[in-house]
Amino acid sequence: MNAAPDAPAAIGCLERRPTRRVQVRWGGRVVELGGGAAIVVQSMTNTDTADPIATAVQAAQLARAGSELVRITVNSPQAAAAMPEIRAQLDRMGVDVPLVGDFHYNGHKLLADHAECAQALSKYRINPGNVGTASRRDDNFARMIEVACRWDKPVRIGVNWGSLDQALLARMMDANAARSVPWDAASVMREALVASAIDSARHAERIGLAGTRIVLSAKVSSVQDLIVVYRDLAARCDYPLHLGLTEAGMGSKGIVASTAALAVLLQEGIGDTIRVSLTPEPNGDRSREVLVAQEILQTMGLRAFAPLVVACPGCGRTSSTFFQELADRIQRHLRAQMPSWKANYPGVESMQVAVMGCVVNGPGESRHADIGISLPGSDEAPVAPVFVDGERTVTLKGERIAEEFQAIVDDYVRRRYAPAGMAAKAEAPQT
Ligand code: SF4
Repeated sequence: MNAAPDAPAAIGCLERRPTRRVQVRWGGRVVELGGGAAIVVQSMTNTDTADPIATAVQAAQLARAGSELVRITVNSPQAAAAMPEIRAQLDRMGVDVPLVGDFHYNGHKLLADHAECAQALSKYRINPGNVGTASRRDDNFARMIEVACRWDKPVRIGVNWGSLDQALLARMMDANAARSVPWDAASVMREALVASAIDSARHAERIGLAGTRIVLSAKVSSVQDLIVVYRDLAARCDYPLHLGLTEAGMGSKGIVASTAALAVLLQEGIGDTIRVSLTPEPNGDRSREVLVAQEILQTMGLRAFAPLVVACPGCGRTSSTFFQELADRIQRHLRAQMPSWKANYPGVESMQVAVMGCVVNGPGESRHADIGISLPGSDEAPVAPVFVDGERTVTLKGERIAEEFQAIVDDYVRRRYAPAGMAAKAEAPQT
């Protein structure tokens, strides 16, 4: 038998990779990337940018779901012309989320020809693989960086393996062939991604963009490749990193693949802003990618956005769907309340609520949560004990268990998370 260790092993401690800090601004709003700032959630619209109302409505929806930066493709003169109106529409709606312009092929021209677009955006994404070929490449890249310098906008140098700089890749393949022991093709491709990102960033600095105005990304669609590429990128530079698995896919596949890749890197302290590139179902909710990104960060203990419901999966001991319905109802209720709770009850986003299906793990898990309910399994008396801060308080029964438990949760939030002055006022005798 192995001897027990002297002390229990500590949970892997997260130490964030030190980076420069980049500020992204709109009006009075400042979103900070890297330099120890909280990991930022971002997303991207999929409307036609030339339709300013549809795009502003979706950007507002993403921002209200919790996206702290919203990226919008700027792919045509019409899209560039619409950008100031999108910004103005969001401002009228009271949505100050900074907007990021996504440029490919013609960004140098659009940014130069549409000064109001360049101003309305808070950050530019430049893909060095898509800025032109041969001699035009450096000129086009330089023109975009010069616009960023003129308007004092940060830039993400965003490399993607689907649009990797082919000339660079060809040069690296040739150099590899001359090695005494050549690397395999996948290793050369990964090195080309990292080199493209870092070389482009250094080039941008030589043109005049401050190092504190640059964020890097190097996205691929394979989990293992992404991990290797970002570890390498993190070791070779101190720019903040935008993390995301490109083309993650639909539904559970997209969620699982993104989570698997991001979790490994985040656990190693790599990643300063994340996007989950989910393909929505037809007519599906675009803001789901925001929710998934938040849940990755919250379940890893890196940030808190909304109270989480801990629920057991249910089994043969749960004879009805009541327990799933209650868990779903409470989770929806908590999310729906968050806009007002966030303003009035600081810290409520870290609350944990347990909804459990039977006596086996119900009381134990409910005691570990801030507030929990253990519903009766199929062979138990039809009563549901409620636990608050680890103590059993009341036992609910009858037809109104769901409503009564929801009211207990609301009351708990008011008592536990109200700021000191507000709590005293609430408890003062009414005259
Ligand atoms: S807590 Fe009870 S109902 Fe839930 S999974 Fe465990 S045994 Fe099944």
